[in-house]
Amino acid sequence: MPRPRRPSTKSIKLIYDSLAKSPKCFGDIVKETGLHRNTVATTLNFLVEKKMLKRYREKKGHEVMYEIVAGWETHWIELMMTKEDWKRKWKEVDNEIEDHLKRKRLKNFKTELMTFLHEKLIEPNRALAKVLRELDMNVPIEIFLKHLERPYCMECLKTKKELKRTSFKDGEYVCTECGIVAETEPFEKRSSPSMMDRIRHLWRKRMKDW
Ligand SMILES: [Zn+2]
Repeated sequence: MPRPRRPSTKSIKLIYDSLAKSPKCFGDIVKETGLHRNTVATTLNFLVEKKMLKRYREKKGHEVMYEIVAGWETHWIELMMTKEDWKRKWKEVDNEIEDHLKRKRLKNFKTELMTFLHEKLIEPNRALAKVLRELDMNVPIEIFLKHLERPYCMECLKTKKELKRTSFKDGEYVCTECGIVAETEPFEKRSSPSMMDRIRHLWRKRMKDW
């Protein structure tokens, strides 16, 4: 069988952004991305083959769902990074990773590297996605990006369907509206050194290839 052709970056990005919000069925992906059915089908097959997405049915007879798999980030970055991206940022990013791995201080890891990677990598946040799905709310992907930086209050979301951002006080994210301390995965866990290590490894491999 011939290798499937790589779909366009635009299609991949649209589908990925849609699935980063929550797992979806084929029809909903078509609706949300506005892409042609054939394009969606080809791109989904490609991403499943690349082991970036998995297909499953919640129950027998239910529609097939697509979900981003764990450990997706290295595949994702391979696909989304252009040759220029790799080259332009290499030194600076490598130094940054080195520095942070050495100091193991990822708490305030808000550097150019993270901004740059966040443009390329959108980490699905399952907790937020679950609540939004239960409330039947569809929000732009930017909400997920902002939630990663500083979480929204889940309590206000659940009770009032309102997106209130928390503020960072004394090492905790507190809702200014209801005063509840946001439950959130620590930043260290989300952007772990091992993920950085994997990206760096990939980076080095890439550089050697050229
Ligand atoms: Zn609140």
